[in-house]
Amino acid sequence: MSKSEVHKYRVSTEDLQQIFKALSSKDYQNIGPIQRDGAIMLEKIQSFDQLAAGFHEDLDKGVYRLSQKNDGSLFQYTVGPQSFKKYLYPPRRKLWAATKTGNGFNVEEGDQPPAKMAFWGIRSCEIRAIEILDRIFLRGEFSNKWYEKARQDLFIVAAGCTKPSGNCFCTSTQTGPAPKGGFDLSVVEVIDKKNYFILEIGSEKGQKLVNKIKLQPASPAEIQNADKLLAASEKKMSKRFDPEEAAKILMENPDHIHWNEVAKRCLSCANCTLVCPTCFCSSTEDITEITGDHTERWLRWDSCFNGDFSYIHGGQIRPTTKSRYRQWLTHKMSGWYDQFDSSGCVGCGRCITWCPVGIDLTEELLAMKS
Ligand code: SF4
Ligand code: SF4
Repeated sequence: MSKSEVHKYRVSTEDLQQIFKALSSKDYQNIGPIQRDGAIMLEKIQSFDQLAAGFHEDLDKGVYRLSQKNDGSLFQYTVGPQSFKKYLYPPRRKLWAATKTGNGFNVEEGDQPPAKMAFWGIRSCEIRAIEILDRIFLRGEFSNKWYEKARQDLFIVAAGCTKPSGNCFCTSTQTGPAPKGGFDLSVVEVIDKKNYFILEIGSEKGQKLVNKIKLQPASPAEIQNADKLLAASEKKMSKRFDPEEAAKILMENPDHIHWNEVAKRCLSCANCTLVCPTCFCSSTEDITEITGDHTERWLRWDSCFNGDFSYIHGGQIRPTTKSRYRQWLTHKMSGWYDQFDSSGCVGCGRCITWCPVGIDLTEELLAMKS
C-alpha cells in the first residue's frame, strides 16, 4: 500500500478477537505467543484466549524470567526462545521415504507445510529476519520448495515492540522496534485504563480481511501515544554499534587475540544458533529399517558449533571452539553482506539471553576494536 493510503485505527481486544475469527474462517492456522514451560512459546492456537495475556519478560545475559500481571496486556513480553522461523523452516522434517515393493521401491513424498498460516504478534526484527530467509530460500533455481509453499499464503499480524529487553539492539541493526512494512496488519498496544491498540493495515490482503469489521479511526492523540511508546522503546536500548564497521573489523581480524578469550568461555553448545531467527544451517540424516525394507531421509537444523558440521573426509575443518565462534560471528555479521546483501543479525538479542554463559556478541564485537 502506498504511504498516502496508510490509515490508523483504534481497536480493542474484542476487535482483535474478530480478526482472529476472520482468519480462522478463511482456513488460516493462527500461530501466536502462548505461555508454556515458563516461557513465551509460539504455538498453533485455536482460540484467541490462548494468547499469553499479561505476561512480561525480564531478560539479561544468560537470564530469562517470565512474570504475569493483571494488566490485560497481550504483547508486553519481548521475544521468547522461539522464532517464527520454526514454522517456515522446521527444526526437523521428513524429506522423503522409500519402501521396498517386490522388484523395486515405492518413493513417498515427505512432510508438507501447513496450507495457510497467520503469525500473531511478530516483532519487527523478526519480519526483517523472514526477509533474510526469503533471500536465502527463494533464490531462483535454488529455491526451497517447502519454504516457498509455507511462505506463499502467510498472513502477518505484527506487534510494535514497546518493551525491549536489555539484550535487544534493533536500533543498531535498523530492524525495529516499529514494524515498517512486511506485514498485513500491525498493532501497537497502548496500556491504559482501558487498553487499546493502534492498528495499521499493510497490504491488500490485510485490508480485505478487516473490510467487514467496523473500525474506528484513531485520533491524533491516540496515534501520538503509540508513537511515543515506540520512540521511548528506541531510547531504552542501550546496546549500540555500527554493523558496517563491525563487518569490516571482523573481516580484518581473523587472528585477533580476543578470539582466544571468547573461546575460554564458549561451550560450543549451539544454543545461540538454534534460537537465532536467521541461522539456517542444516544436515540430512538417513534412517533405514534393519530389514532394509524402508528408509527415510530427514532434514534437521544443525549448527556451525557442532563438531560434525565441518567434518569432511579426513577430519573437521573447525576442530576448536575458537574457530567455530569466529566462523559464526564473522559469517553472520560480515560474510553475509557478500552473500545476502545484509547482515545476518537483526538485533533480537536471543543469542545473548540463551547463552548459558552469557556471552554477548555486541561486547565481543567492541572488544575486537582494540
Ligand atoms: S545473532 Fe543473536 S541478536 Fe542477531 S539475530 Fe541472531 S539471535 Fe538475534
Ligand atoms: S556463544 Fe554461548 S550459546 Fe553460543 S555456543 Fe558458545 S556457549 Fe553456546
